[in-house]
Amino acid sequence: MSWVFGLSPGTLKWYNIRQLILKCFLTLVILGFLGLPADPVFSSPGTMPGFSSHYLNSGIPGNTVLIVGGIQGDEPGGFNAASLIVTHYKIMSGAVRVVPNLNFPSIIKRSRGLHGDMNRKFDLLNSGDPEFNTIKRIKKMILEPAVDLVLNLHDGSGFYSKIHENKNRHPGRWGQCIIVDQEHMPDRFMEKKEKFFQLSRAAWKSADSVNISLLHPGHKFNVKNTKTAQGNREMAKTLTYFALKNNIPAFGIEASKSLSTAKRVYYHLLAVEAFFDQAGIKFSRRFSLTEASIKRAIDQDIEVALGDNRILLTVENVRNRLGFIPLEKEGKLAFQVNHPLMTLIQSGDVYNLFHGNRRLTRLSPQYFEYDFSLKSIGMVVDGESRKVFFGTSVPVKHRFLVNKVQDHRVNIIGFSKRTSQNKSVINESGFVVRKENFIQRFSIDKGGHIFRVEVYTSNRFNGMILVDFRPDRPGRPDQSGDMDLVFKPREKVTKVRFF
Ligand SMILES: [Zn+2]
Repeated sequence: MSWVFGLSPGTLKWYNIRQLILKCFLTLVILGFLGLPADPVFSSPGTMPGFSSHYLNSGIPGNTVLIVGGIQGDEPGGFNAASLIVTHYKIMSGAVRVVPNLNFPSIIKRSRGLHGDMNRKFDLLNSGDPEFNTIKRIKKMILEPAVDLVLNLHDGSGFYSKIHENKNRHPGRWGQCIIVDQEHMPDRFMEKKEKFFQLSRAAWKSADSVNISLLHPGHKFNVKNTKTAQGNREMAKTLTYFALKNNIPAFGIEASKSLSTAKRVYYHLLAVEAFFDQAGIKFSRRFSLTEASIKRAIDQDIEVALGDNRILLTVENVRNRLGFIPLEKEGKLAFQVNHPLMTLIQSGDVYNLFHGNRRLTRLSPQYFEYDFSLKSIGMVVDGESRKVFFGTSVPVKHRFLVNKVQDHRVNIIGFSKRTSQNKSVINESGFVVRKENFIQRFSIDKGGHIFRVEVYTSNRFNGMILVDFRPDRPGRPDQSGDMDLVFKPREKVTKVRFF
C-alpha cells in the first residue's frame, strides 16, 4: 500500500506529534522514506495527537471536496471509508482532501470522544479545551477558499425513518441517511456555488443513487433534515453547521451501526461517490465495491518500518505477537507507517501496532547495538543475483540464498541447518532455502508465507530483510479489482518517528 501515496501528486502530512497514551510520551516526526532528508515537523512532547490530511489532486481544474472521517472514535465505517479513499482511489479530475482520522486518539481508544463529543465543539470552544487546536486546524481546512463541499462521515444508531416503525427504525435514529442542516443554503450563497444550493435536493440525489445498490431492502438511505437553524442547539455546534454558516455546503453521511464495518464502508463509499458525481469529480478505485473486496482492501499492503529503516514488517494478516524484534539499545525508537490509521503505541515492554481501533499485533523487542556500516546484502532469488537493502521485502517464488558476507552472520528465522556433527549452523548464509525448509510458526504472517532474514556482526544488528513467499503478494494486481490496476512502485511513504 505504500506506493499508493505516490499515486497522486498530493502529500501525506502528519500534522503533529502525538501523545497517544498518558503513560508514555510519544513524539512523531515526518521524514522522508528511504532515508530521504525531508523536512521534519517537530512538536513538543505532550501535545495532543494530530490528524493527517491527504490531498488527492488530479491537476485538472474542478471542484474540491473535503472528506472528514473519525470525528467520533467509535465509528469505524466512517474512518475506514475515508482511509480507503486515501489509499485506494485515484482522482482524475478536480480534487479531494481527506482527513480520515480527525479524532485519532479516540479512534485508538475505541472511545466516542476521550474529551467529550468533538462534533459539538464547532460553535464556541474554550481555548483550554484539549481539542482546541485540532478544532482550530480542521476549521481552517474547511474555510480554505478551494473547498466547495464538505462531507462528514459518521456511523449512526439504527435506521433513520420519517415514521416510527419499530424501536430501531424511527425519526430519532441516525443510521442510513444523509444529513442536511436545512433545506437549502442561505440565499447569499446563491451566485457562488449554485450546484449544492439545494442541500436537500442534492442529498436526495445521492441517497437515490445509493438506493440503487442496496445489499438489503432494509438498508434504504433517507435524508434527514435536522433543521438546525430552527433551534436545534446540539446540531448548531457541529462541523457541518459551521461549514454552512461559512457558506460551504456540507452533508453528514451516516451508515448504520447495526451493520458490519465492511457494510458501513460500502454505503459510505456509495454515498461519497454519488457526491463525487454531482461535483463532477472523476476517479478510479483499486477494488470493486463488494463486502469481500472492501474487507481485503482495508488491510492490504500495510507495513511498518522500524530500527532506522533497517526493519520492515508486512503486517497484512500479521500474527498476534512478534517476538525478538531487534531494536536499537538506548536508541531513539522510530517507526514509520504507510496507512493513515496505523500507529505504534508503547505499553510497558511491548509495542502495540494499531490499525484504527484494532490492535494488529504486539511487538516484543530485543535490544541490540546497531552496526550501520552495512546497508545491503547479496542474494540469489529464484536463480537471479540481486543486491537487497535492509528494511525491504523480497518476493520469492521457490528459493533463495544469502551470499556470504565476511565477518557477518546471517540468521534466517525459522530455518535451521545442522552440520555433519549434528550441530546447528550459526551462520546461515550460503544455503539454498525453500519455503518447506522453514518451521511455519516462525513466519510473521498467519498464512506462513513471510519470514525474517537477519544479519549481525558479532553481537551487533545490521538489518533485516523479509522473504515473502505469498503467491498473491503486493505488486500483483488485485484480481477482484475492477479498474486502474497498474502497479506503481513505491515512491514515498510517510515516516513517523517517536522518541
Ligand atoms: Zn458520528
